Amino acid sequence: MAFRLIDFDIRISNVLLWGAVSSGLLSACQSTDSDARPNKSLLEVEALLRERVVRLTSQEMEGRETGTPGEWAAATFIDSSFQALGLLPKGDSLAYQPFSFKPHPPMQVHEPEEGIAQMGMALVQETRGYNLLYATPAVSGKWGVIAAHYDHLGMGGDASLHRGEPAPHPGADDNASGVAVILALAEGLMVEPVGHPLLFAAFSGEEKGLIGSNYFCENPTVRLDSIRYMINLDMVGRMHGDSLAVYGTGTSPRWQALLDSCNTEGLILVPSTDGVGPSDHTSFYLENIPVLHFFTGQHADYHKPTDTEEKLNYAGMMKVHALVDRLVRALEQEKEWPFVATQDTTQKKKSPSFKVTLGVIPDYMYGETGVKIDGVTAGRPAAKAGIQRGDIILKMGDTAIKDLYDYMEILGILEPGMTTEMEIERNGTTMVVKVTWD
Ligand SMILES: [Zn+2]
Repeated sequence: MAFRLIDFDIRISNVLLWGAVSSGLLSACQSTDSDARPNKSLLEVEALLRERVVRLTSQEMEGRETGTPGEWAAATFIDSSFQALGLLPKGDSLAYQPFSFKPHPPMQVHEPEEGIAQMGMALVQETRGYNLLYATPAVSGKWGVIAAHYDHLGMGGDASLHRGEPAPHPGADDNASGVAVILALAEGLMVEPVGHPLLFAAFSGEEKGLIGSNYFCENPTVRLDSIRYMINLDMVGRMHGDSLAVYGTGTSPRWQALLDSCNTEGLILVPSTDGVGPSDHTSFYLENIPVLHFFTGQHADYHKPTDTEEKLNYAGMMKVHALVDRLVRALEQEKEWPFVATQDTTQKKKSPSFKVTLGVIPDYMYGETGVKIDGVTAGRPAAKAGIQRGDIILKMGDTAIKDLYDYMEILGILEPGMTTEMEIERNGTTMVVKVTWD
């Protein structure tokens, strides 16, 4: 996942918008026993998930950075895995879809005495990456796209949060987890197919700025107007307390009801309506295709060498797998799946629904009393008041803050220039800070 696109202060307001269950859809989903994976027991499926993650995070893959031998090693492994399941190549050269890009803007490297020939553009090498694309055997109708990016950060680079000597970034959660789950989905959907065609996409260049998925949308191997929906799995390996974030729920009017009806295992779905987010579904959303992005939440190992295989929650990945499998089968019953544009982040920034914001990233997967802070934006009211990552807001003024709803409600009545006393908990100690809203 490439996080620079996200705006959590705004995103959490969408948590309030989660809709009701449609009883009609409920029956569509309940009629499907997708847990009965033909030929393979659940234990066997889980073992396969692990096996694939272990392979994708192995030394040989060198952190799967786009344009490196590690990416190529991962691509060939994924290619042989999809082929073994009987899917058909749907790229530009068999399953491969090569794309080229310049990784950085022209560098300022010239020295006056070296002359103009040494400057700028000429020094920027093009990088080549490869998307991998597979189709289920021919059936007519509109496509569903099921995608996960397989590239990661290699030995580090700009997007890494690691400080120190370069080190391999295995990217177990980001996003070997998603690749392993789409392979498992492909297997189940080959053995027990649906009546609409499915395109499985393993994108590259995601960490460098959604480059592979963008390239696909500009150079699609199936017509874009024949794609009915896109489901993106990016970072699905760290499920905590049955919570699962789902982004893009506003991109079709019926996603929320369908999700609720397919959530037969009682996962705590944390929705966000926006079609624009920090991963490849954004490329499809911008082509007016309904999208969903599943995400099991942020963690301290994000974009670090410590995002390793043994930290993954494989039982949680099985739950994501089961939910998406049910969704795809339920979508089979739907004749229409209309697109709705969600308000994009830039527009929201211009017309915020609150006059003030704290300038924090709330941990919206946090399930206990209060609002836990996952990140603090420098120069904003929280940072100025000394609020730190990990703090839990318990009280604003005289009002107890039980959850994000309480927090949003208070924010809604505050005005710039006001000062609010906030009670926070830090490492088990309660303290009071004064926040001046700007
Ligand atoms: Zn990432």
